[in-house]
Amino acid sequence: MHNFTRRHFLKAFGITSAAALTGIGLTPLAAHSAGKAHVVVVGGGTGGATAARYLKQLSPDMAVTLIEPNATYVTCYGSNWVLGGFESIEAITHGYDNLRDRDGVDVIQDKVIGVDADSRTVRLESGDSLQYDKLVMSPGIDFKYDDMPGIEEADAETIPHAWKAGSQTELLRAQLQAMPNGGVYVMVAPPNPYRCPPGPYERVSMVAYYLKTHKPRSKVIVLDPKEGFAKQGLFEEGWAEHYGDMIEWRGGSNGGRVEEIDVSGKTAHADGGQERVRADVMNFVPAQRAGQIAHDAGLTNEQGWASVDQRTFKSVMDDNIYVIGDASVAGAMPKSGHAANNQGKIVAAAILRELSGQEPLDPSSASTCYGLITLDYGVSIAAVYQYQNGAQAAVEGSGGVSPLGQSSTFRRQEAEHTRAWYAGITQDIWG
Ligand code: FAD
Repeated sequence: MHNFTRRHFLKAFGITSAAALTGIGLTPLAAHSAGKAHVVVVGGGTGGATAARYLKQLSPDMAVTLIEPNATYVTCYGSNWVLGGFESIEAITHGYDNLRDRDGVDVIQDKVIGVDADSRTVRLESGDSLQYDKLVMSPGIDFKYDDMPGIEEADAETIPHAWKAGSQTELLRAQLQAMPNGGVYVMVAPPNPYRCPPGPYERVSMVAYYLKTHKPRSKVIVLDPKEGFAKQGLFEEGWAEHYGDMIEWRGGSNGGRVEEIDVSGKTAHADGGQERVRADVMNFVPAQRAGQIAHDAGLTNEQGWASVDQRTFKSVMDDNIYVIGDASVAGAMPKSGHAANNQGKIVAAAILRELSGQEPLDPSSASTCYGLITLDYGVSIAAVYQYQNGAQAAVEGSGGVSPLGQSSTFRRQEAEHTRAWYAGITQDIWG
């Protein structure tokens, strides 16, 4: 999957410089005037790496700097497959060589610790600072540990969230491998809104897949503050078919609302203290908010997310700062990798048009969210989004959820599409 060359990529996506410029209604002359600017992008994850790459491809003369603390990025998508035991961490790890060497993005391994909007400067942990004309922030999420009594951030070393992929994924995997046959895995699911709405349910499917094969007497319990979840019918159909009664989902009014976690006893207290659920492996996914730097830069609202003009993803707080990806409030667009990838392209076009004195476009985009229930059993939900009446809205009559009651051939094809989607989107982002 990594043998795809840049030429093939451009061909596959129908992009040549001129065609791409026409696609966003930008003349080569306008792109040239935009090219004198310096755009700094914070975060080399899904949204940030896409924005940096597309800015540079659309306007090669522009100076684009991407700041990311890690040398490589491990995708959350695919990380549940690592827990299922059929994918490696290496296969879902991506570097920045192609952005740097082929696209000409200046990739700096550092962390942004402050933003001064008046002087249009970002401060880096190394002590350096950088000036920008436009700043794109895609810092992802951070966690609200304060919302759950009994547990704090440092406890993630014993009770992993694995909601940022990498060492947390490996820790959860090691705990599952060490769990006795007949043990109990408990997922404490997050309240809305959070990164990847179907993610917790693909997570428990993949944990059950591993346990069914290696420790079949084990149990999977989901304690969920919500009353329902994305693609619920499809997940429940697949769970019944493949895992019998191994997976038990408890919704908010059915004992799923956890009020406290006893870390040393690995016990969740729910239902006004009536229910005590003890785990051999506990996977607590906390409530979420925008990544810390968005707060430090004064870009977030009372709920902890960055409000933006959903046409351009420009922050409502500052004329030169844009926020994309999970950190932003994006109407009907979910906090998903596919949405962050689309927003990276939308923001690149919006910045180029503004810098060349053109009105913004009303962007539209499409997104598909796949999930695996077993290695060979996939489900999906697709949607089309269009900027309408001040917000990113789902276009009525487009998209939909894959149907219930399908054959194993159909589900196997969806599983194949899931892996093809992964290959395509990571190629688009990191090359
Ligand atoms: P991220 O991709 O998290 O990138 C943020 C980057 O910013 C990070 O690299 C971070 O190091 C960097 N950063 C943070 N602070 C700073 C700072 N101060 N200075 C510099 N850099 C900084 N989505 C899908 O579409 N399909 C799926 O199948 C899917 N599966 C998922 C499964 C799981 C288990 C999870 C947890 C998520 C899944 N997602 C999926 C969601 C997807 O991973 C996210 O929505 C997506 O990564 C969001 O992109 P982002 O750019 O907002 O954040």
